[in-house]
Amino acid sequence: MAVVQCEAILLRSVDFGESDRVVHLLTSDSGRLTAMAKGARRSHRRFPGTLDVFNHLAIEGRSTPRATMAFLERARLLDPFLGVRSHPARYALASFLVEMLDRLSPEGIEGPEAERLFSYAAESLVLLEQARPGPTLRLLLELRGFDALGQRPELGRCVRCGRVPAADIAPDHRVGFHVADGGIVCSVCAAPLEGLIPIEWGTLRILEKGLEIASAGLVDIELGGRALEAAARLVFRFQRYHVGLELRSERFLDEVLPFPRPDPGEGEPAGNHLGGPPGLA
Ligand SMILES: [Zn+2]
Repeated sequence: MAVVQCEAILLRSVDFGESDRVVHLLTSDSGRLTAMAKGARRSHRRFPGTLDVFNHLAIEGRSTPRATMAFLERARLLDPFLGVRSHPARYALASFLVEMLDRLSPEGIEGPEAERLFSYAAESLVLLEQARPGPTLRLLLELRGFDALGQRPELGRCVRCGRVPAADIAPDHRVGFHVADGGIVCSVCAAPLEGLIPIEWGTLRILEKGLEIASAGLVDIELGGRALEAAARLVFRFQRYHVGLELRSERFLDEVLPFPRPDPGEGEPAGNHLGGPPGLA
């Protein structure tokens, strides 16, 4: 039995039997972890009001190699993110991000990979405690989630040949994004491809900035009009490609935080076609 002692964000919690609870955690040192909290619904000494979604915890437990479930012995509340719970749009966006992490976070990772993923989750919740979420913040946090999960989209160079578009490229120049390849493609590589998402170079630069800066600065970025529509289409299709289905929290999020959505049927990675030459870089 190995000792588990680290920080964690609670992603999901399910009652089990008479008094136990199974918790799904994102830990600071090993990625996703599923743990049984024996007697959790009775013991207020070991789990004093701690096993709620979003909670930032200091946990202690045990795990066995190759066992699918660890045992949680104690949890101390570090931050309940009360500001997230009291505001519908914050709550909806946090629920969506946490569900995405619950679905996509790998188990058994370590070192910088685990730290990066945990930091993303914790920093996003800290940001949402104060922020007034809009559609831009929604898509930037989602993109950063994919980055933290090791699935960062390539927004600066052709994902097939590695070519970087010219430095003096105009901001309104449109480039094609290929969802299955996870990045933009140059005009040469684009020729045989279908289903490219056209997006302006300037919009890509703003999205890239949203991946680079500290999370506190995200609230200052605002996309509007066509740029927001194109970015939303890109993130939506990218998300569907990686998640494969609509997340449970997505409909609620769409209600409280409307998002320009692509036409029905665009969920398929190769489902749409450019109307004409997109003017690729
Ligand atoms: Zn290329």
